[in-house]
Amino acid sequence: MVLTIRDVTKCYPGQTEETAVLRGVSLDLAAGSSLALTGESGSGKSTLLHLAGALDQFDSGEIEIAGTRLSGLSDSQRAALRRSDVSLVFQQFNLIPSLDTGKNIALHARLAGTWDEGWGIRLTDRLGLSGLLERYPEQLSGGQQQRVAIARALAVRPRLLLADEPTGNLDEAASAAVMELMLDLVRESGTALFLVTHSAAIAQLLDRRLHLHHGMAK
Ligand code: ADP
Ligand code: MG
Repeated sequence: MVLTIRDVTKCYPGQTEETAVLRGVSLDLAAGSSLALTGESGSGKSTLLHLAGALDQFDSGEIEIAGTRLSGLSDSQRAALRRSDVSLVFQQFNLIPSLDTGKNIALHARLAGTWDEGWGIRLTDRLGLSGLLERYPEQLSGGQQQRVAIARALAVRPRLLLADEPTGNLDEAASAAVMELMLDLVRESGTALFLVTHSAAIAQLLDRRLHLHHGMAK
């Protein structure tokens, strides 16, 4: 399993056990498979995704990323695990404005020391970005920027790709096209995808679906 979540609970300050955001959530995600997380606004989707990415601490239960238990890791150990195994794509594209497309795509993989030119070329080809490598983010459309963000996330060949409403800023047609590409590339690279979406249509494209309600998932 790339991701295992067991009975995880999470309260933010001011919340009680009864009003906790997550009240015992469990799930598994294998390499090359995809899971959609749905639920109303405020139901804890982003919170769970952050926990799955070792970006925040949970109160009880356990999370394992690629066999490593997160409880008990130091901040620097969690950071190292994130760098080596996890990539994130958010609704905001978070591209670096002063870097062109090519440099944005390679950025995280270069920092992790895993940049692979051949894989980078394949990603840019498949995502239709080959002709845009020298453009800066402000010279790209929303859909193009989102494809750059996806290429950057996949360039590191993460074991786990976490995506929080990645097509939330795109219209329906652009959103469907970006999703199809992302799913193809995820399957091709054996990456496990955990994706938050409010769209039932997008959730249907993934292997499995989980619905978050009152702090529980089913
Ligand atoms: P979703 O992504 O499903 O909309 P979130 O995980 O963002 O939900 O938020 C779940 C609940 O936790 C909301 O009630 C939100 O207000 C609260 N929350 C989220 N982040 C924080 C935080 N850093 N501090 C306090 N409360 C938070
Ligand atoms: Mg959210």
